[in-house]
Amino acid sequence: MAGWIDTHCHLDAPEFAADVAAVRARARERGVVHCVLPAVQVAHFEAVRALAHQFGDSYALGIHPLYVKDALDDDLTRLDAALTEHRDDPRLVAVGEIGLDYFVPELLQSPLRERQEYFYVEQLKLARKHGLPVILHVRRSADMLLKGLRAVGGGQPWQGIAHAFNGSLQQAETFIALGLKLGFGGALTYERAQNLRRLGAELPLEAIVLETDAPDMPPHWLYQTAEQRAAGQAQGRNEPGELPRIAQVLVGLREMDAAELALASHRSACAALPRLAALMDLPGV
Ligand SMILES: [Zn+2]
Repeated sequence: MAGWIDTHCHLDAPEFAADVAAVRARARERGVVHCVLPAVQVAHFEAVRALAHQFGDSYALGIHPLYVKDALDDDLTRLDAALTEHRDDPRLVAVGEIGLDYFVPELLQSPLRERQEYFYVEQLKLARKHGLPVILHVRRSADMLLKGLRAVGGGQPWQGIAHAFNGSLQQAETFIALGLKLGFGGALTYERAQNLRRLGAELPLEAIVLETDAPDMPPHWLYQTAEQRAAGQAQGRNEPGELPRIAQVLVGLREMDAAELALASHRSACAALPRLAALMDLPGV
């Protein structure tokens, strides 16, 4: 059976500082052969690069919309320089995590709204300049993200992933038509996520990649309700080792074979991030 690829996890997050090697080893034991580590801010570029090399994984460089508030204008120049410096690193697979967040109220107001839009578009341009795919953060922002892709793409297709996608079928189809894959993860495991589950069940397999977004987006078996948290239970930490169990939920929704999903999602991940294909043949760590 093809191994699982976690196309989105933040192993550089402080939640993993104490035991990242054990977390990665546990994922490997459960069949996760590869993790893609998107950066969220310039200060973490070296961390994701080092972790990807340490574990035989891959990484992306970018400035996440939730980190735009603290980013300097100069950070775009730093990103450009880092993409140039590591252009021959086979483990650098994308520009990401970039995008727009219209869920956090503060980011909806001027001037942060315009600032995140500016950072998004400028980073799309950098992805084009360096010939790299994009890993997109989509939260209530699908239409504006699509607008940016169309404006910067100039009619040429994109490669990459709309991560943690949770929009309409029409938005899904528009991302796919532009060349992107859609990332599905822990959100699928909630029975109330009817719309998302329907998309997971019905979209073509070639359009789907799997991800955990660890340490965030806990699947329902790790989720603590507000009352449980008020009673002192910490929110369950998601980790890449949860991916096979999350994938089983999709297997159930699609009424298909796990090995078939593993193979198809493996292919989709390599199509979204073409440098992954060569990495699969490099010796693991
Ligand atoms: Zn993320």
